[in-house]
Amino acid sequence: MKEKITPYLKKITHKKGIATQYVISLSETISQDYNDPLMEDSHEMIKGLVHKYKNRALIKVSYLCAAHCRFCTRIRQIGNPKGTLQEKDIENIIQRVYK
Ligand code: SF4
Repeated sequence: MKEKITPYLKKITHKKGIATQYVISLSETISQDYNDPLMEDSHEMIKGLVHKYKNRALIKVSYLCAAHCRFCTRIRQIGNPKGTLQEKDIENIIQRVYK
């Protein structure tokens, strides 16, 4: 996991909670265990549609996020523009969910 933090946030890391949310610890830079903790990749049936449980589905609309939280379960994907769904992807999801 890489630490990505804006200059402004860096300046205020002394405030309670800010460092906890954004500043990574040394162990997080060497751990390989934080790749896909919710096993979403293996349950992504088609692009953007995670179907892990029988009666619910998760649609990942975009990987773009202004934050880079150290606890994010999708940190491996955050910032990748290829994760943003296009109209065709959404149509595919709708067809898959309602078939
Ligand atoms: S998607 Fe991840 S990085 Fe973005 S705000 Fe949520 S937890 Fe933080």
